[in-house]
Amino acid sequence: MAKEEASSVVSDFINFLNSSPTAFHAVEEAKKLLRSFGYEQVSEREDWKLEAGKRYFFTRNHSTIVAFAIGKKYVAGNGFHIVGAHTDSPCLKLKPITKVSKAGFLEVGVQPYGGGLWHTWFDRDLTIAGRVIIRDEKDGSASYLHRLVRIEEPIMRIPTLAIHLERGINDGFKVNTQTHLLPVLATSIKAELNKEVAENGPVEIEVQTDEKKTKEKTTAKNSNHHSLLLQLLASQVGCQPVDICDFELQACDTQPSIVAGAMKEFIFSGRLDNLCMSFCSLKALIDATSSESSLEDETAVKMVALFDHEEVGSNSAQGAGSPVMLNALSRITNSFGSDPKLIEKAIQRSFLVSADMAHALHPNYMDKHEDNHQPKLHGGLVIKHNANQRYATNAVTSFIFREIATQHNIPIQDFVVRNDMGCGSTIGPILASGVGIRTVDVGAPQLSMHSIREMCAVDDVKHSYEHFKAYFKEFSHLDAKITVDI
Ligand SMILES: [Zn+2]
Repeated sequence: MAKEEASSVVSDFINFLNSSPTAFHAVEEAKKLLRSFGYEQVSEREDWKLEAGKRYFFTRNHSTIVAFAIGKKYVAGNGFHIVGAHTDSPCLKLKPITKVSKAGFLEVGVQPYGGGLWHTWFDRDLTIAGRVIIRDEKDGSASYLHRLVRIEEPIMRIPTLAIHLERGINDGFKVNTQTHLLPVLATSIKAELNKEVAENGPVEIEVQTDEKKTKEKTTAKNSNHHSLLLQLLASQVGCQPVDICDFELQACDTQPSIVAGAMKEFIFSGRLDNLCMSFCSLKALIDATSSESSLEDETAVKMVALFDHEEVGSNSAQGAGSPVMLNALSRITNSFGSDPKLIEKAIQRSFLVSADMAHALHPNYMDKHEDNHQPKLHGGLVIKHNANQRYATNAVTSFIFREIATQHNIPIQDFVVRNDMGCGSTIGPILASGVGIRTVDVGAPQLSMHSIREMCAVDDVKHSYEHFKAYFKEFSHLDAKITVDI
């Protein structure tokens, strides 16, 4: 890979991270990227008229996205070569009623999403992002709009308790997620001056016309939330606070993702798990399929599927535990052939790379890794193994994925958890068992997984991108040389 191309992968990834504070935003960025490379959006609510040699994508709930490029020589029953990853990360999501007033402070009620390292959320400069449903009234009739929203400025913070008030805190910082984790939005004394603040700053909020009516309605209808919060959101999406019908929001860090370290070899960022694998797979798919000639001799469908809700077990209408993957494979197959058995043949010819970040060896906690399986930063993608099927990798799938690395001089490493420790899991086993597809579980090594600020290595972003790209380009050829079930 040319040096320029490699550095653009990293800088594109940093931009992707900074534009994707939530799964909804990550899907929006993926859509933009796909559209700019000629991928056409299709809707699951409509019939699909697909053509061989073309590229498509669809979204579900605007938090899961599936993109695919159909080989020019594809016929129904041929396989799908897939990379799967996830768009969500542990975070604090806003409760249905967020208004909390205590000790002269306005706080925002939140609930933990996924297994976050919650102590890392203290003393960070936080903001809010997600999606809102807003009422749009025209000529007396209302319609409802789905809008993504993100407040850029740090508007809240979860303060730690001073050591003077709890001397033993360094012996074990225990977080009570109900009582300790509420972000402070304002003091009530300043919020009382809300109207003045709204008009004159320091927070710039445009107060729209018909102020009195708005205020009355807001107090009556939106008393579930501090009006200050609603005003900030409304000004961000360009509506009146009263027109915000509902929302799905989360607290987010405002510190931008960066390339860092004394040798500029690391990436410091939130959400590396799993926007790193989401971005690398998407970019690899695009680059492996965007030229006219790339699909010319291809007989398979190349696909990237990025799912929501991995961090909470994948069981939702758009998670990897839903029929979304099977629906996609069936729809594409059925667009090219009507025999219902074709899908079963297609699944047996398919292959899934389940890509989710892996644990690099930590220099300060070396005993947490098994002696022979210590993935290193810069060491390339990690193949994850588990005899008890917490990972779906087997000898055939790991061989295929490793062979692609070997042929391209891309480093590759292996991970198995210590026998005396529990093992994590991911979408691999869920899709392998739900769809019946051959699967290898892999991921780039990182440290601080599930912290608000994680770290990984620049080189592993490049290795992952190269590895996925080579997989998309060469899997058909390699798979033709391996037979297991004769
Ligand atoms: Zn993950």
